Amino acid sequence: MKILLNNNDLNEALNNVSRLGFVPTMGSFHKGHISLIKRSKKVCNKTIVSIFVNPKQFNNRKDFREYPRNIKKDLSILKKLKVNFVYLPGKKHIYNSKRASKIKLNKNDQILCAKFRKGHFEGVIDVMDRLTNLIKPSKIFMGEKDMQQLYLVKDYIEKRYKCKIIACKTVRDEGGFALSSRNLLLNNNQIKKARNLTNHIFDFKKTLKNQKKIFRLLQQKKNDLDKLFDVKVEYLELRNTKNLKISSKIQKSKIFIAYYINKVRLIDNF
Ligand code: AMP
Repeated sequence: MKILLNNNDLNEALNNVSRLGFVPTMGSFHKGHISLIKRSKKVCNKTIVSIFVNPKQFNNRKDFREYPRNIKKDLSILKKLKVNFVYLPGKKHIYNSKRASKIKLNKNDQILCAKFRKGHFEGVIDVMDRLTNLIKPSKIFMGEKDMQQLYLVKDYIEKRYKCKIIACKTVRDEGGFALSSRNLLLNNNQIKKARNLTNHIFDFKKTLKNQKKIFRLLQQKKNDLDKLFDVKVEYLELRNTKNLKISSKIQKSKIFIAYYINKVRLIDNF
């Protein structure tokens, strides 16, 4: 496994590599990250994983500072997985040039997390544009856990690069709770709460039919969740998975949620 610390290392190592698979991450690996890496290894000649906690996508300094970092453990996991390259850039390597034009979300895209985390996806798209330009992968592997991120990045990158975004299924723990690096910020009771809430929504989805009152039911459920689990739900919405438009049909749609357990913000889709 080659560890690449700057863009010269990167250019040298990737010269002549074809069918390169890329897994962009912010580190603190769990089985979700590992599933993306394994998928890339399966379908590409070589795999590169980047670890970069991107300051631009945090709309809150404290959240950035407190984001879990476990670089030693991450590297040992990557070594065991026999990844070809790991790219560990610093901020100066990524943001070494000014953008020609500012990234702006369409009005239609200012929904779900974009509504509540101003500037977040602009930061994600910016870093993904820069990483794709540097690495020039043929495939990028991303998780459905972050469905809105996947949707926006796919739209941006596939229009501009000869590169496919590959969607990978959400990996959950034994209690059904979606794995996330942020889960490290939760104690055992909070994890139990998140598992119960997750299963509650899975069960709720089974009771839904295509009916007019579906919006009212979702609104009611949002209020119930706050009370039942002592959480703060930011949104609970049924949306079409292809275009993320609000939907009243269960087929081809998912329930999207963002909620806080204490200060920790969690997202999922069902
Ligand atoms: P992160 O390090 O949180 O930025 O995530 C890096 C990549 O892993 C993103 O494409 C995420 O969508 C994906 N990912 C995070 N959690 C999961 C999960 N539980 N299952 C599958 N993919 C995930």
